[in-house]
Order: sequence, then structure tokens, then C-alpha cells
Amino acid sequence: MNSESKQLIAGLKLYLTYLKGLGITELPLSKKQGQISYEPELSDGTEVIAESTSLDQTQVSLLANQTLEEIRKELGDCQRCKLFKTRRSLVFGEGNEKAKLMIIGEGPGFDEDLQGRPFVGKAGQLLTKILQSIGLQRETVYITNVIKCRPPQNRNPQPDEIETCYPFLLKQIGAIEPKVICALGTFAAQTLLRTDAKITSLRGKVYPLSGIQIFPTYHPAYLLRNPDRKREVWEDMKRIAKALADNRS
Ligand code: SF4
Repeated sequence: MNSESKQLIAGLKLYLTYLKGLGITELPLSKKQGQISYEPELSDGTEVIAESTSLDQTQVSLLANQTLEEIRKELGDCQRCKLFKTRRSLVFGEGNEKAKLMIIGEGPGFDEDLQGRPFVGKAGQLLTKILQSIGLQRETVYITNVIKCRPPQNRNPQPDEIETCYPFLLKQIGAIEPKVICALGTFAAQTLLRTDAKITSLRGKVYPLSGIQIFPTYHPAYLLRNPDRKREVWEDMKRIAKALADNRS
């Protein structure tokens, strides 16, 4: 075996390990220019990751039988995880109940906890601008978070808190039935895609699931600290705009 073949096999092994990490156990093979391609692409070149075991495919449709109002009522004065002890507000989410685009962040911060609304602080203002950059007004999308209560001192959400709150996020997705989900930041992307992979490796690709296209990208709060990453978010937003345009009916 020559060194080129060895390199190819080593690269393929790495890629298969990466896919396995995402929970993908089957490969969609497609012929491309006479070769077998393991990386299907959208027409704009965006890599499409094969439908994976992320959100349970049946869960979203099974959970589509509740309205947002009913889900909020069910949450009530939620004390299902320890975050209830320190929160001021339970931040459920807001926006268009029939939105084609759902924005899912990590959890409420100081301003959100104070006002009871998602993405209203500096990161929220940046999100509004990012949406406007692709011609979307904030009111036309639905915005929520993986967890609905602010962790003390804005610490990272803990696994038990995420898993306790996650069923309500799934119900919200089921109620809204968006065409596209933008997962903002590590925790939203990892929760929805059921992976430990870093946001840097997850973003820039699309993860189809039961008719929903999931696009992970950087959280606006991260962008405020790392403005040099804005370019990548802009690329992701263009992909989202295209997916929305393709889904316009
Ligand atoms: S984070 Fe979710 S599960 Fe925990 S108390 Fe708040 S609403 Fe309930």
C-alpha cells in the first residue's frame, strides 16, 4: 500500500470516529464525480450530516399535540431541578408560534432573569442584529433556551438540569414545528445533537432531523468576547436564510 492510500485510510478512520461520536452508525453513500462521497453537501456546499440519533425522531411528532400555552401551564411554578431556588423568573420563550425558524440558546442570564424574556441583554441585542442581517425581524421567529431558569452567577448549566428541562424544549419544538433550528452555542448544540463534540466542529454543517434542519453556530455572548468569529456566524446565517428560502411554501 502506498503512502497516499495509507493517508486516505487514516483520514477516513478519523472521519468515521467523528461520525460515531455524533451517534451516526450508518453511512449514506452517494456517487459523486465517479467517487464514493461520505460527505453529502447542500447545493451551496454546506456539509450535510446524515440524519442522526440526535433528537429522537419520533419524539418531536409525538409531542406535537400540546400548544405552547399548555406546555407553559404544565411547567407551572417549576421546581423540577435545583435552579428554581435561585431564579427570579422562569423564562419560557417568546415569538411567533408558527415560526419557520426557532432559535435555541443555552439559558437565561441576568437581564433575562430580571425581565422574564429570552435574549434581552447585550447578547440578545446582537442576536436581533444578526437576524436582521438576513432580513428577519425578531418577532417572526421563536426564541427560547435549553434551560428556562438562570444558573447562579451565570455558570454553565449542569447535565441534570439540562436533562430535566429538555422534555419541555422538545415539546416546544413539537408545538412550533419549525423548519429550521439555529442552536446557539455549545450547550444548545450538544443537547439537540446528543453529542460531546465542540461547537467549533459542529458549526458550519447542517443536521437534518425529521424534516427539521438544525444549524449550530456560536452564541452571541461568545461573539461579544470574540468578535473575530462573526464572519463564521455570518456564513452560518446565510445557510439558514437559504434553508428558509428553500422551505418557503
Ligand atoms: S430549569 Fe427547567 S426544570 Fe429546572 S426549574 Fe427551571 S423550568 Fe424547571
